[in-house]
Amino acid sequence: MNTKKLTEFDPLIQESITKELQRQEEGLEMIPSENFVSLPVLEALGSILTNKYSEGYPGKRYYGGCEFIDEIEQLAIDRAKEIFSAEHVNVQPLSGAPANIAVYFALLEPGETILGMDLSHGGHLTHGHPVTHMTKVFNFVRYKTDAEGKIDLDNLREMALEHKPKLILVGYSAYSREIEYEKIKEIADEVGAMTMADIAHIAGLIAAGEMNNPVPLFDVVTTTTHKTLRGPRGGIIMCKEKFAKKIDKSVFPGFQGGPHENNIAATAVAFKEALEPEFKTYAKQIKANAKVLERKFNGYGYKLCFNGTDNHLLLMDVTPKGLTGQQAEDALTKSGITVNKNMIPDDPRKPMDPSGIRLGTPALTTRGFKEEEMEIVADMIEKVLTNHEDDKILEEVRKEVKDLTSRFPLYPELA
Ligand SMILES: *Cc1c(COP(=O)(O)O)cnc(C)c1O
Repeated sequence: MNTKKLTEFDPLIQESITKELQRQEEGLEMIPSENFVSLPVLEALGSILTNKYSEGYPGKRYYGGCEFIDEIEQLAIDRAKEIFSAEHVNVQPLSGAPANIAVYFALLEPGETILGMDLSHGGHLTHGHPVTHMTKVFNFVRYKTDAEGKIDLDNLREMALEHKPKLILVGYSAYSREIEYEKIKEIADEVGAMTMADIAHIAGLIAAGEMNNPVPLFDVVTTTTHKTLRGPRGGIIMCKEKFAKKIDKSVFPGFQGGPHENNIAATAVAFKEALEPEFKTYAKQIKANAKVLERKFNGYGYKLCFNGTDNHLLLMDVTPKGLTGQQAEDALTKSGITVNKNMIPDDPRKPMDPSGIRLGTPALTTRGFKEEEMEIVADMIEKVLTNHEDDKILEEVRKEVKDLTSRFPLYPELA
């Protein structure tokens, strides 16, 4: 057995990890799908559980020696049930995309129709983007948001009546408003469709009671575990008991082999955190911080898509300021502020250089940023975007970012 430390045995990898740690420490992480996990989560993730094969489910495995793995996976399941009031939970999907694919194959036959949201209006790649394999198997049709930026329920109902989908899908990657699950369920019932919510982005806010919870109402709900929920990278599927067998069989053996039990253990740890009172405070602060950005950017004259935010993210058209999403992303990156370029609804520009940027508050909130710091962050972003061609100013902001982040150390224990 190799008993050397990583620094000793593989300094190349260790150096890159150290540089990445420094990048995370010194920058402003504003990609809304990112977050920082706690040390206990990291500990479980890096544990010897990675050594174990455990195909099957707790109590019904295809491998011996799973008695402790079973305890771990069952804890993860029970905690998810408690957090979301779920009837049945599968914690084995390797990430959000595989979770969604497993659901499609569990509930539909090839060729059947899924009604999801237009990608430029906030939907996710796995909801039927033409570049994904799933569009070769299933028939995806799309609804949109209305002029006010809300989900256009009339359009959704018309589409549902016209296309008679087997499944209606809500839950998005770039949509900043609350979702009225009851109204969508009514439409689904009217056309005899099943309901699926993909809460990958907002699961943490839902867990804390800060956004509507679709789990008690919808047939199936998927989520990632690594976004606002602040766990390791992974996915889970929650469903009504009547779909439990189909979902489980679809994940394994339908789609995956052995589950990653180190991930599942780390997820269970993150779920324990999500059940603590501090997590409610955290989720409230995520929203309060996003509201500061909304107010500041409105004041600066940016156009916020969907007219603002009810959650952790903002989608912002930057073209009125004379730059593109790519230019905005590049300038902000140079200043140590990480966001991502993003399409805006019915974007006239191309995905590789769209009109908008998407930014959010979960990671900064984990660092301890409150309203006061968010004001400073908004001012920095404005300074960068209005001076995006002036490298001296970008460098100046980078220093300000470093000063600010140094007051909120992330992982002092790892330094
Ligand atoms: C992030 C996301 C996913 C995909 O998750 P991965 O872990 O990247 O596969 C799926 N659906 C939505 C709505 C997302 O935001």
